Amino acid sequence: MPELPEVETIARGLAKRVSGDVVESVWLGQKPEPLKSPAREIAAALEHSRIAGVRRMGKHIVFDLEKNNVRPTKLGAASTAAQWIVHLGMSGRLQVCEPQAEVLKHTHAILKLASGRELRFVDPRRFGRLSVAHAGGFDAGGIEPLDADFDHFLTLFRGRKTPIKSALLNQKLLRGVGNIYADESLFRAAIRPRRRASTITRDQLGKLLTSVKEVLREAIALGGSSISDYVDADGEEGFFQLQHRVYGREGEPCLVCKTPIKRIVIAGRSSHYCPNCQK
Ligand SMILES: [Zn+2]
Repeated sequence: MPELPEVETIARGLAKRVSGDVVESVWLGQKPEPLKSPAREIAAALEHSRIAGVRRMGKHIVFDLEKNNVRPTKLGAASTAAQWIVHLGMSGRLQVCEPQAEVLKHTHAILKLASGRELRFVDPRRFGRLSVAHAGGFDAGGIEPLDADFDHFLTLFRGRKTPIKSALLNQKLLRGVGNIYADESLFRAAIRPRRRASTITRDQLGKLLTSVKEVLREAIALGGSSISDYVDADGEEGFFQLQHRVYGREGEPCLVCKTPIKRIVIAGRSSHYCPNCQK
């Protein structure tokens, strides 16, 4: 599943490719799962709209749309603006391609663009979601980890009785932090995943927020070099991975102290940590 850094990379790649383009027509597939808003609403919002920009909110990709050739109404031009929101789920991909490119199996949406290209949504496992919202009406929940200031972070996390790992994954608190980056951040902050958030000191929480931002920024920087592959090729290339220090390294020696990395399950998710470095 793409995590925040991958989604950021994809959104940046799409912004470069399709910003300013106009959606001429929309085809939506018959499978109901990918459509979180009614097909008619999605098509109406997209058709004849200009893509003003593409950005990430949490793990969502948000296309800011403006209606083309619409005279400002009494409510102003903003009343015709909308957002197309794409969540990639487990296996969703957005392809920018020439119209003659083979339509892959599991294609659920095709947007014909004025530039002559097509923007397609392909998702074999159908956990991805397409929806529309009025401009500014979309709330991805939680706070953006890269923008979070310490005081806000502290208010959200201090006093919680849940394990810190569960709190990090709680999308109502921080949006977009997934399993891998939660484990990596906890390792860098030297905090065990099972520690109750309420037992963690202010200083340690400060270190944790710094680690979360550091890990995400490093991963985004690495992802940046593979934008084109992911956005419009066959999708198998994937991303340059952040060198994991604990995630997926059960039984392997800790890179700092050589103690074998442990794996435990917290709320149904694998958690990896060093029993020596993390307290
Ligand atoms: Zn260690």
